[in-house]
Amino acid sequence: MKISILTIFPEFFRSPLEQSLLAKAIAAGTLEVELVDIRKFSKDKHNSVDDEPYGGGGGMVMKIEPLYDALSYVLYSSETKKRRILLTSAAGKPYNHPLAVKYSLLEHLIIVCGRYKGVDERLNRLFDLEEVSIGDYVINGGETAALVILESVFRLLPGSIGKIECAISDSFADELLGPPVWTRPAEFMGYSVPQVMLDGNHSQIEGFRRFQSLARTWQNRPDLLRRANLADVDRAMLERITSGEDFDG
Ligand code: SAM
Repeated sequence: MKISILTIFPEFFRSPLEQSLLAKAIAAGTLEVELVDIRKFSKDKHNSVDDEPYGGGGGMVMKIEPLYDALSYVLYSSETKKRRILLTSAAGKPYNHPLAVKYSLLEHLIIVCGRYKGVDERLNRLFDLEEVSIGDYVINGGETAALVILESVFRLLPGSIGKIECAISDSFADELLGPPVWTRPAEFMGYSVPQVMLDGNHSQIEGFRRFQSLARTWQNRPDLLRRANLADVDRAMLERITSGEDFDG
């Protein structure tokens, strides 16, 4: 998969792309990341990418011309039609796991990073963009959002994170939050790992993990439970959870 990121701060991405699983995937050719410096497409003598907003009100707005040229360049050199263009925006639709799954099936994902007060609205008219928000808050620029999207899409690519079971048991993969995890030592400062996790009985471990997932989701994200596709056995567990059964095993 190829991910193109249009930004005025390409250096922002250097360190994350040179670490860990992302670096390995890039070296192996599973993932190609193209960093496109929007400023290089500015044609005025100061290489400016922003200007004052019409109507006043303070702040600056990203100019349309460099963005248009940068995006046209990326589209012109794109080798597939199986692609989407995302514009990072606090005013976009909420970015979530189903969208990550959808984007992970593409061959080319293009992410435009906004800055300042945002980008000139005409970008939205000139290109078929999806505006996406990573949460109900405002950050300084789209680079952090692009990195969130890049990492979450990347984790879903075949072979990206080693064992596929890892991604399958992650939060949201089956509409619930993931269960808690433990590692050695079995006891630390008076707190023990639940016995069921030590006994090696895989069906009991699966049942315990499911119970924990349901309990966490009920506690932290009850909204997910309303949408989740629950089996009868899940509903029976939920009844035990909501009637106050101890979650600690
Ligand atoms: N004036 C904008 C608004 O009210 O929505 C906020 C602009 S923000 C300071 C600058 C850039 O950061 C935005 O253009 C966008 O690319 C990015 N950004 C800020 N918050 C974001 C969020 N929650 N999700 C995705 N991108 C965000």
